[in-house]
Amino acid sequence: MSIFLYNTLGRKKEVFAPLVPGKVGMYTCGLTVYYRGSIGNFRAFIVADVLRRMFEANQYSVTHVVNITDVGHLVGDGDIGEDKIEMSARKSGESAWDIAAKYTALYFEDAKKFNVLTPTISPKATDHIAEQIAMIEAIEKNGYAYTIADGVYFDTSKLASYGQLSGQSLDEKEGGSRVAVGDKKHATDFALWKFSPSPSADSIAQRRQMEWESLWGIGFPGWHIECSAMSEKYLGVPFDVHTGGIDHIAVHHENEIAQTLAARNCLEANVWMHNEFLQIDGGKMSKSLGNTYTVADLEEHKIHPLSFRLFLLGAHYRTPQNFTWEAVGASHIALGSIRNAVRDLPKPSEVDTESMKQFIDRINDDLDTPGALALFYGVLNDVLMERSTKAATLLAMDEVLGLALADVLARPVLVPGAVETLLRNREHARAQKDWKASDALRADIIALGFDVNDTPSGQRILEVW
Ligand code: AMP
Ligand code: ZN
Repeated sequence: MSIFLYNTLGRKKEVFAPLVPGKVGMYTCGLTVYYRGSIGNFRAFIVADVLRRMFEANQYSVTHVVNITDVGHLVGDGDIGEDKIEMSARKSGESAWDIAAKYTALYFEDAKKFNVLTPTISPKATDHIAEQIAMIEAIEKNGYAYTIADGVYFDTSKLASYGQLSGQSLDEKEGGSRVAVGDKKHATDFALWKFSPSPSADSIAQRRQMEWESLWGIGFPGWHIECSAMSEKYLGVPFDVHTGGIDHIAVHHENEIAQTLAARNCLEANVWMHNEFLQIDGGKMSKSLGNTYTVADLEEHKIHPLSFRLFLLGAHYRTPQNFTWEAVGASHIALGSIRNAVRDLPKPSEVDTESMKQFIDRINDDLDTPGALALFYGVLNDVLMERSTKAATLLAMDEVLGLALADVLARPVLVPGAVETLLRNREHARAQKDWKASDALRADIIALGFDVNDTPSGQRILEVW
């Protein structure tokens, strides 16, 4: 079946054509590991994960590279300001290397909680300094770089196609840029290599902890070069699909494309996909507003991370999505009911091919997750479908959705002894028509993390989560 993807480069939906039949090379810009990834960041990673699962459901063998940005991402919009990792180190008193290691480990833990598949490769920028230096050399050799006091810069005016991703001309970009030009030739020029400031320099308060020797001087790579260099190393150029959030279009991805073109005279990737942002209570997520929530906040609010995943699936990745505790709470209840329904199903048999075909048709249409979810619910609530077929079909759909339903299928809730006793007492109370006692016992059961439904065949224990 054909796959249609919206390509930011060209701004239209296109039929996906792999470079090598049966294979897909995918690169996702990963977390800048100076803090714990927010649920906004995880929208980007979960969208990329669904994309990968979609390809796999279409029998593609996927190489998914998700990098770790552990150096070079500066606080400011341009090439000024402190490195985010070094800033976090300065504030916390830990070393820059420890900060990066700590938040990299947390990222992998959090990703697992959201059932994000482990990337095929997760290269760190600091492990690929030589590759980045080699690429800057090629850019310089081809005449696209110049050196000024604080670093080596890419001359965007040399590249006629600069601006092709965002669809802005150089003049438009320069006019709209909030970035100070300084010694740069053009506002859109960007750092390939930045020099470490001398201890007396006042631009960065202290000496850098992460720095390397280079032909140009001691320093560190710019943010964009890591993605051009590491994607080329692991996927070659061009590769199939590059993903990230929409904030990356105008600068980071534009600059990645420019670097690879300048160094290799080749388009970095054929398809560029960008997710819209997750907003909080209708506005931007920001540290100053105290609303940059993480998976820890979800868990504190008794929201399972997979409930957040279900919440995300309810919106198309190219629409801004508004996070509220009410909305994610509703997804949490919905996932609880899905899990309870799936627990009751027998062992899976054959997939219902017609339902699955419709589902793949939706997900292949530029990841129409709301449409795919509607079909999933259709099967879940289908009273006529043979139950082992239903089990097989829901599991096959969940390979794409990633709600970890295989963990609960045909696995009755394990009820602790204390809850069993309460259930027995409640059954007795109900036989006596003592509704007050029955309600009190139900409250005790809920307090222990379970719930009970009264069905024609008696009490039914439910998992609450
Ligand atoms: P960063 O660590 O800043 O490089 O961001 C990692 C990824 O998260 C990038 O793809 C960003 O575009 C994405 N991202 C950041 N904030 C949000 C948000 N609120 N909603 C969706 N994606 C986001
Ligand atoms: Zn990147």
